[in-house]
Amino acid sequence: MLPDDSTTLWLLWLLRDIQLAQFYRPILEELNVTRLEHFDFVRPQDLDSIGMGRPAQRRLAEALKRHRSGVKSKNWVYKILGGFAPEQKETTPPSDSPRYLPEPEGGLKCLIPEGAVCRGELLGSGCFGVVHRGLWTLPSGQSIPVAVKSLRVGPEGPVGTELGDFLQEVSVMMKLEHPHVLRLHGLVLGQPLQMVMELAPLGSLYARLTAPAPTPPLPVALLCIFLRQLAGAMVYLGSRGLVHRDLATRNLLLASPRTIKVADFGLVRPVGGALGRYIMGGHRPIPYAWCAPESLRQGAFSSASDVWMFGVTLWEMFSGGKEPWAGVPPYLILQKLEQDRARLPRPPLCSRALYSLALRCWAPRPADRPSFSHLEQLLQEACPPEGRCVRDVTEPGALQMEPGDAITIIEGSPDAVTWRGQNGRTFKVGNFPASAVTLADLGGAPAPFPAHRGSSARGEQRTDGAGRRAELLGPTKHVFLNYTGISKSLESVLSLGPRPSGGGSSPPELRHSRAVPRGPPDLPPRPPFIPSASQPIQPPRTRPPWPKREPVYNHHSGVAGASKATGPLGGLLPDPEWQRKITEVGLSVHGVTHQECQVALRATGGDVASAVRNLKVDQLFHLSSRSRADCRRILERHQWDLSAASRYVLARS
Ligand code: AMP
Repeated sequence: MLPDDSTTLWLLWLLRDIQLAQFYRPILEELNVTRLEHFDFVRPQDLDSIGMGRPAQRRLAEALKRHRSGVKSKNWVYKILGGFAPEQKETTPPSDSPRYLPEPEGGLKCLIPEGAVCRGELLGSGCFGVVHRGLWTLPSGQSIPVAVKSLRVGPEGPVGTELGDFLQEVSVMMKLEHPHVLRLHGLVLGQPLQMVMELAPLGSLYARLTAPAPTPPLPVALLCIFLRQLAGAMVYLGSRGLVHRDLATRNLLLASPRTIKVADFGLVRPVGGALGRYIMGGHRPIPYAWCAPESLRQGAFSSASDVWMFGVTLWEMFSGGKEPWAGVPPYLILQKLEQDRARLPRPPLCSRALYSLALRCWAPRPADRPSFSHLEQLLQEACPPEGRCVRDVTEPGALQMEPGDAITIIEGSPDAVTWRGQNGRTFKVGNFPASAVTLADLGGAPAPFPAHRGSSARGEQRTDGAGRRAELLGPTKHVFLNYTGISKSLESVLSLGPRPSGGGSSPPELRHSRAVPRGPPDLPPRPPFIPSASQPIQPPRTRPPWPKREPVYNHHSGVAGASKATGPLGGLLPDPEWQRKITEVGLSVHGVTHQECQVALRATGGDVASAVRNLKVDQLFHLSSRSRADCRRILERHQWDLSAASRYVLARS
């Protein structure tokens, strides 16, 4: 029988301090060491036998010495609470007596006496605990509804890694304060250990997305709000130097019908090093189908791998909670992503602009993915605009609507006679005559259109349009275990397999295959919408002077149609203003054509500065043998002076 973990927590913390937590179980189970004095009898050979190298043994010996001398006499609870002292407003030194949170909004995370919390109905279960609805009675007598996560205790007590993750989650959550991050109120040091958290009364977004009828589906406009909230929360986590590593709709909780909160911080880790990465050690469960290739291959997690997961979460949202890569065995997912360059298909509710954004999140190279703060910006541009119905639409085959209905325009372009959208009243999706909806009634500036995307945004599984050769995979051997008791899509990676030599670095890209196609974009086919004879003839609607649609292309990847997710904002401007912008761009970038200026402006939603920069990146890219990301960096270093940057790359080619 193993000892109760609560009596050996000192060892776990001691080992975690010196990054040797992986030896916690072997030391307990194989060496039967449970007390400090037991180490007096441990020989180097014993530590060798559990795979601990000599440098690690020296670290352990020193840590034990410090521990013995009382330098680190703090217990783990102190450690958790004391560890956040700089962030806490209160300066009283920690003591053994628990501190109480005066009010939930008080900001101070605390220990909560066991008797102050009563648990109710079961809300769900996760990796290392069960979650109950609860009531927490504050010292003032006021009771507030909370969620209580209790550490799962097996027949032999809590498992080391689960306990570690539980404490990790506590220590991470204690530091966080953001409107879209689930709040931790405090910790109950009972049996079992319990976290007392903000209650998200409407449960997980995943549950909501998959709720059967008659629950109505979540409207596209609301999904876009959630995406923005999520991006905001992720910017915040990134600013704290943390990676979430388990972004998925199951871990987004609904605090209100229109508010999500990021939850489940069990896998959150601080990032470090020049690359801002966390490299996973050992064999731990990771959400395989949500993971970026570098996470699957090397156990490498970073803000960029969170961005990849954001793309998968977006896909889940627009797929009604479908499981990504359902039916594909986990060991094939990496192969599909890397060798076949396959990507999740575009869900029908997802506009081409938003799908383009997801594809950018799934760029093979982490450096090519947008940051979360860039994503916030991109989302603003890519989310479908809202319109208002101005007349009845009753024709068979068309999306039915009544005057005043809010319509989310999923696909539409200024010169198309038919748009595709969702009626915010009925939640139905379909095509409708563009003349039935106006953008201008919403008060304020008309919303920009989502740009039509070309071939790269097609709904099929696709290869990376950047024309890069697939990375050659070495003989990978992945063994997976189904990890019981964890959320449904988490798989245990028993082995991440040998890394192919030189793995991870892309071979040089083939210049000719990356040429930017300048042909017309692959526009979606016009839906066969034929106004019926009974349709009352409407007076022609006055429209803003849309310029003719131009092909868009992605300056980032050089893929036609995979442009920055933005609409032809320029189309909303009067022509002279648009012309002025074209001239301004043309004057700023030597040698570009009128047409190229238009396209670049279109791709940046009319932002001259961005269009100029993108064109400069393009120019340098075609001049040199460097990647676009490199070109951008070089240009940045040269204060966007194209001649200076060109001289620099030519001197080195
Ligand atoms: P977790 O262990 O964090 O993965 O939580 C497991 C499940 O419990 C989640 O999928 C939710 O359904 C539910 N849950 C977790 N935390 C809360 C909360 N704060 N409020 C409401 N439900 C929660």
